[in-house]
Amino acid sequence: MKRLLAISLTAASILIFAPQAMAAPCCSIGWHWRRTANPFNVTLVLSITTAWQTPLNAAANEWSTRSGKFDFVTTPGSTTRSARQNCAMTSGAVHVCNGHWNAAWAGLTEARVSGHHILAMRIRLNDAQTPARYRRLVSCHELGHSVGLAHNTRPSSCMRPGISRPHPDATDIAELNVIYRHLDGMSPTTADNSAVRTIRIAWYAPQ
Ligand SMILES: [Zn+2]
Ligand SMILES: [Zn+2]
Repeated sequence: MKRLLAISLTAASILIFAPQAMAAPCCSIGWHWRRTANPFNVTLVLSITTAWQTPLNAAANEWSTRSGKFDFVTTPGSTTRSARQNCAMTSGAVHVCNGHWNAAWAGLTEARVSGHHILAMRIRLNDAQTPARYRRLVSCHELGHSVGLAHNTRPSSCMRPGISRPHPDATDIAELNVIYRHLDGMSPTTADNSAVRTIRIAWYAPQ
């Protein structure tokens, strides 16, 4: 499957600066997980060091419990420095890695999508830009992107870029119910007829 995906991929890359940059229904960033039933599992492959384990797991549990639409399930990935730094896109799952990247973003979520459906994903958590007190916020934010939420301007939501409350708010949960109201009848890794492209969305550290 990985090889098939690699062949079908295009190099197209879109950097999203604002949620309005992409036409999407409701509150969605424009991607979601394809599934045959609700609730469904979203697998997080964790290539993270101990400093991120508590905030990342707590954020994942909160999204799972409050959404009622999906469960984040975790599986260990390689935690070698090179594996974390490389953070390979993972088919049908979210590869979560922390490391030091020479970049302005604190967190960066990238997805390979076919139409509006996620094929593979990765989240990079940048230790060079994330003070310890923001690990929970950045975890909450990037995991929200991983299930399809876009940015908003509500201080009550971790999906607001910059400093905000490090939790989903009630509107985030309501929006997930809109995004996952339908069923697709196919597994996450099945490509449809749409072009495959890569989308990135970043969270910048408060300066
Ligand atoms: Zn769908
Ligand atoms: Zn973001």
